[in-house]
Amino acid sequence: MSTNRRILIADDDRELRGVLKSLLSGAGYRIQSCANGAEALREAAKEMPDLLIVDLDMPFIDGYEVCRQIRARDNGRTVPILILTASDSAEDIDRAYATGATDFIPKPINWTLLLHRVKYIIRSGENLCALYASEARNRALMRVMPDSIFSLTPQGVISACFAGANGLPGDLPREGRLDHFDRLVPAPFRSLVADAIRAVVETRQAATFDCARLVAGAAQHLEFRFLPYERGGILALIRDVSTRKQAEARMHALAYFDTLTGLPNREWLYERLGQTLTEGAGTSAPVSVVFINMDRFRRIATSLGQFASDAVLVEAAARLRATVAQLESATAQNLPLARFGMDEFVTWIPAAAASTTTLMVADALRKAFEAKFHCGTIDLDLTASLGVAQFPQDGADVVSLLRNADAAAKTSKALGRNRVTIYQQSMNNKELERIELECDLRKGLIEGQLTVEYQPKYGVGDLALIGSEALLRWHHPVRGDVSPAHFIPLAEDCGLIQALDHYVIATVAADLASWRRLGLTVVPVAINLSAQEFLNADTVEALLRATTEHNLPPSLIELEITETALITQPDVAKANMHQLRQSGFRLALDDFGTGYSSLTYLRDFPVDSLKIDRTFVSDAPDSSDACSLIRAVIQFAHALRLTVVAEGVETLDQLDLLRREQCDVLQGYLFNPALPAQAFSQLLPA
Ligand code: C2E
Ligand code: MG
Ligand code: MG
Repeated sequence: MSTNRRILIADDDRELRGVLKSLLSGAGYRIQSCANGAEALREAAKEMPDLLIVDLDMPFIDGYEVCRQIRARDNGRTVPILILTASDSAEDIDRAYATGATDFIPKPINWTLLLHRVKYIIRSGENLCALYASEARNRALMRVMPDSIFSLTPQGVISACFAGANGLPGDLPREGRLDHFDRLVPAPFRSLVADAIRAVVETRQAATFDCARLVAGAAQHLEFRFLPYERGGILALIRDVSTRKQAEARMHALAYFDTLTGLPNREWLYERLGQTLTEGAGTSAPVSVVFINMDRFRRIATSLGQFASDAVLVEAAARLRATVAQLESATAQNLPLARFGMDEFVTWIPAAAASTTTLMVADALRKAFEAKFHCGTIDLDLTASLGVAQFPQDGADVVSLLRNADAAAKTSKALGRNRVTIYQQSMNNKELERIELECDLRKGLIEGQLTVEYQPKYGVGDLALIGSEALLRWHHPVRGDVSPAHFIPLAEDCGLIQALDHYVIATVAADLASWRRLGLTVVPVAINLSAQEFLNADTVEALLRATTEHNLPPSLIELEITETALITQPDVAKANMHQLRQSGFRLALDDFGTGYSSLTYLRDFPVDSLKIDRTFVSDAPDSSDACSLIRAVIQFAHALRLTVVAEGVETLDQLDLLRREQCDVLQGYLFNPALPAQAFSQLLPA
């Protein structure tokens, strides 16, 4: 038996009330009975019952009025109201329903049926109550949802529609005027909607698509989602995602575009070129990558400053963009263009049918730099070096393809700039490394990465400072310190050696002059001259110019030359040596023992000293051969009145040996390495 449910009975018939009460309380209900409508309303106000049984015909406040007032209360909307009536007029019964009655029971009452009626009417009242609560929850949920939600028949006809928090997006038609969902969708997207609805009906899987259109000049992005719904129907959701799309577009622009030139950036390039390669992998047409590297851009940046160099880059990007646009129509190909680095741009030909097309494109891009660049009041002549690499033969992925196209562009630079070079497999790593190093060295010289350091030389007797050797140092920002043994031969190969030797001459002269101005007692500095430069008349001139300009006695400068210089053109060498000695410079033969080591050179060429190569010094005193050679060289040199310098002295044993053999001058890590000018000057007596 149920229940603990509460039933409120209102009937002016005392007897009937009594029977009802005993019957229902016998069935487990809690009963409250009232003799009139007013009393019933008061009791309901205190606590709403689970069921009201109300007589229609009561004095003052009748059953209709009780119904009306109960229904008007917030907590009275769902409570079941059972009307008792002796009337069988259809009009009375209709009126009872209209004022809110749930059901009615005619008098005289069928008591057996009544109990069942009460039981089921209370249950359906509770169901109704739960339904109201769930609807209220759903309504609250809908209010915070940004979506507009529609339930559709499988044919796409709207059966119900709930606007989201923001109402329907944009100028979509309002609810009420709608019949088919089609009408909500901008015309170009109707077929998408039809497809999506069909897909959901057939597969019972969700379908989604986005569409965009212009509303009052601004892009509106709508997201459509279709979900399977009850009875074969569909739930359609429309959400305005314009704000999210705008934010995404901003993020995309920031992530993929270069703010200075407006061109896509390196990330974009990697992504898109990657896609092109994936697509191209299946076809036979190669993808050609063109790497564009502006010439001497850093010099412009250093000398003209940030604003001017930015303007040059913007102008260069605009010219490349315009050229690419022309080339696109000429080649009927889409040529993406991106800024790769500071002054580097990349484009690629997705399906380069013929290599002539690639060369035509690359050369047109090179020519884009031909007209002068106007930079404020200055007109600049600028050029670019270009490199081409092809997929798949020159690189199977984006990184190696770009690296090789870049290497080819660097070769263009090394070959004299303003040209296009096609990557070749034969440009092996060593060669590439050499080319890169060479470019770096040129740049390093301009950017002041090279300095001159001084390694002291000491007299063997009292170990007094009697001279120094100027040694070039290259502090590369990325490679670190690069040894001159590595970059001097390279500089000789690529024609940079003259610039380096002249730079050392000028620096040494300036340092000597500044030490003298400080009142220091300077000692001679030895400058290494490459064989090539020693044979060049310009070098003699540079030396004379430097000493004259700084008012230095040439005897303060000694020149270290190697045997190579003497062998290749002995006559020129001899003539230069005489001229230099007459001018007052001193000459030393460097690295003696490593080359031809003919003692006759010492007799035939006018040198003041010779330097025993450090490989012999380092072998001594353990190697008897090295010791014999050192002894023979010193004796012979002394016979010719030459000073003997031992370089690379590292140990006290070597020092003892060289002293015993009466070597004159010592140089090596035992005393000092090469020192920066400032540190070296502190060794000079005032
Ligand atoms: P080098 O003229 O024979 O210079 C002597 C080299 O021996 C220097 O190497 C010096 O740092 C190193 N050295 C000095 N004392 C010791 C020691 O005790 N132990 C050892 N293991 N090494 C010692 P660095 O500076 O690497 O120069 C190498 C070569 O590069 C020089 O040989 C010279 O041929 C060339 N070079 C250096 N500076 C110049 C320059 O300004 N112009 C030209 N044309 N060549 C230069
Ligand atoms: Mg030397
Ligand atoms: Mg040497």
